[in-house]
Amino acid sequence: MLATLRPPSVDSEALKAFAASVYGLVGAWNPLEGERDRNFRVLSAAGASVVFKLCHPAEGDSVLLCQAEALEHIAATDPSLPVPRLIRTRDGQPLGRFIQENISYPVMVLSWLDGQVLGEANLTSPGLYELGRMLARLGLALRGFVNGAPATRDLVWDIRHVMRLAPHVDALPPEDRALARSILARHAEVTVPAMRHMRSQIVHGDVHPYNALVASDGQIGGIIDFGDMVHGALILELANAAGDFLTPLQDPAETIFEMVRGFHSVTPLEEAEADVLVDLIEVRLLMTPLIDALKRANGIASQGYFENFNGRSLPMIHELRRIGHDRLHGLVRRAAAFPPRPPRSSSDAAELIARRRKVMGEKLYVFYKPPLHIVKGEGVWLTASDGRRYLDCYNNVPHVGHCHPYVTAAIARQAATLNTNTRYITDQAVDYAERLVDLAGDGLSSVVFVNSGSEANDLAWRMAKAFTGHTGGLAMDFAYHGVSEAIDAFSPSNSPEHWTAPHIRLLTPPDIYRGPFGADDPQVGERYAALADAPIAELQEKGLGVAAAMIDSAFMTNGILDAPQGYLAGIVDRVRRAGGLFIADEVQSGFGRMGTAFWGHRHHGVAPDFITIGKPAGNGHPVGAVITRPEILAHFLKFGPFFSTFGGNNVACAAGIAVLDVIRDENLVENARVTGTYLREGLASLMHKHALIGDVRGVGLATGVELVRDRSSKEPAPAETTRLLSLLRDEGVLIGGEGKHGNILKIRPPIVFTRAHADIAVAAVDRALNRL
Ligand code: PMP
Repeated sequence: MLATLRPPSVDSEALKAFAASVYGLVGAWNPLEGERDRNFRVLSAAGASVVFKLCHPAEGDSVLLCQAEALEHIAATDPSLPVPRLIRTRDGQPLGRFIQENISYPVMVLSWLDGQVLGEANLTSPGLYELGRMLARLGLALRGFVNGAPATRDLVWDIRHVMRLAPHVDALPPEDRALARSILARHAEVTVPAMRHMRSQIVHGDVHPYNALVASDGQIGGIIDFGDMVHGALILELANAAGDFLTPLQDPAETIFEMVRGFHSVTPLEEAEADVLVDLIEVRLLMTPLIDALKRANGIASQGYFENFNGRSLPMIHELRRIGHDRLHGLVRRAAAFPPRPPRSSSDAAELIARRRKVMGEKLYVFYKPPLHIVKGEGVWLTASDGRRYLDCYNNVPHVGHCHPYVTAAIARQAATLNTNTRYITDQAVDYAERLVDLAGDGLSSVVFVNSGSEANDLAWRMAKAFTGHTGGLAMDFAYHGVSEAIDAFSPSNSPEHWTAPHIRLLTPPDIYRGPFGADDPQVGERYAALADAPIAELQEKGLGVAAAMIDSAFMTNGILDAPQGYLAGIVDRVRRAGGLFIADEVQSGFGRMGTAFWGHRHHGVAPDFITIGKPAGNGHPVGAVITRPEILAHFLKFGPFFSTFGGNNVACAAGIAVLDVIRDENLVENARVTGTYLREGLASLMHKHALIGDVRGVGLATGVELVRDRSSKEPAPAETTRLLSLLRDEGVLIGGEGKHGNILKIRPPIVFTRAHADIAVAAVDRALNRL
């Protein structure tokens, strides 16, 4: 093994003559330290310096040629990286060959880098951070370098061979042996298998304080000695250096943290790499006393800087243990921007409920008894803390699927780049506004960003009042539009018994199943619309007038109504004739939910004055906006500026854009149409078996199933609905209850729902109804 070699001795005059003839090198020769090579600094009369390396003859040519090629590779890939340049012989060979007494010594000449070796000095925190960056740059510069030598070479410092050093544990102080054995055992059992999956390449592998030159600013200004390159996991570059730069005079936690942070800022660590780093640092530290023992076993005394490393390695391992593996590991994860490992979910649901009651109020307002403790979402699936997966047929916020990778990547990337507000000119807000305007059409070409559906409706309502000069509003009976005080007035479903709002009148929902007019009436749409005449007249008689009607085109809270043809047009017509505007609340019906069109109002063939968006827009990230006509916005702004701090922030807009991309690229509007129809066919087919199903209706992926005790009397079945939802939960299918009577199944899944999912849902409804 090469560690047991000593530098060669040759006749120095012959060597100088060789240097002059082969390299044209003439000057003053000064010896330098080296573990197995005989090294000199040669200073020419003109003041130029080079490093002349007379290499050990046992060092194979292939390894030296690899070094030479690596330096030339770096010179090409990252020319400003401060590493030595190879100086070729006068006739262009990468290596020279000095022969004496029939022994052939390879020679390598390198440019001299200015600066002192760092040695036992300490780097500042910024210096350690910069060192981390430089290590990452080194890795990048060598990433495309291909050479077989480091993979096949037998190098004692190569961590791949560390288990060969295990016998030398017995030469360590007795009190350190158990610790050393446990470090090696963990390495063999955990780290080596993990490293098999890691990105690997040729790495310098030996960036330590005596191979690192400090520049005049005190930071690392050069990395030398490419003699220990190995082919291994990229993380070794960082781990070896981090181990070697730990000194007794500096907080090791800080050293590791800063180096990882620096490295990560250039080359983001992979999570598996971050998770083995502390273990690898310990192994690196342990290698020094083990190699020292190996050398001593071969009669070679440690000398030079190796002695310094050897003296501090074991105490440093103890120091790391004192700080604690978990703490160091946590620091590495933080430096590499990985979230803390979640504490194992020891809190069972009951404990979590108790804790929640304490800090979030006694009343729970959660679904299911006992409530579901959800820990993960993916596509149309939600996973509970007990590991069970549930088919999500309920949630419309994760519109393109829970945690859609494209959307989460867009959010993460933007969050790591810039997140600010619309007081600055930002690309994302303009891009997103343009996309929304394109989709809106109908002359709605102005966008104002807010953060939620409630805020969007609140703002649209303010704008409508400002533009019309009226103060009265129309909402659907049992509607829901949000939480603000103004919008609570539009949301009688918030408190059906106590709802009062003197300036709002309620419209009769166009319920062709349960309402006064049925589908068999050829004028049904117009008849329901005509029911708006009275409330409009009332508002006018009170002197309030009609500022706006706010309507959800999916009639979701009303039980997902199949509003008859012409109904919404009839309402909008009446509202406009009264001088009012139409606010299309697209929080439920927008973004392709209804399958027939991108917007719910389009499904009904009407053009709004406002589109308000929320929930699905950001797939779970808060995104809200009002899209309106420019003259309405301009009029509103006459009364003063409008600015929402978070509205239109870069991350929200990046999320919004990503959602639009996914809807377009995955053809999800069409999917909602086709899959929704298929789903309703499946549900309707259950009607002959289950008398409880009174009606199956809806459009796209908004489906209502109305449960009745008797099909002719249509007596609602709310208790059965509640029990059915609970049985469906047991079946692993999540569906919600809806409607004034609480007797409607609301099936409103992410619109990536497929036929296969629909089959699962229909079969589950069938089984649950059987069990009911
Ligand atoms: N409008 C409609 C139709 C809604 O369904 C909702 C939320 N369920 C809102 C507005 C309010 O949105 P947010 O909760 O984001 O304020």
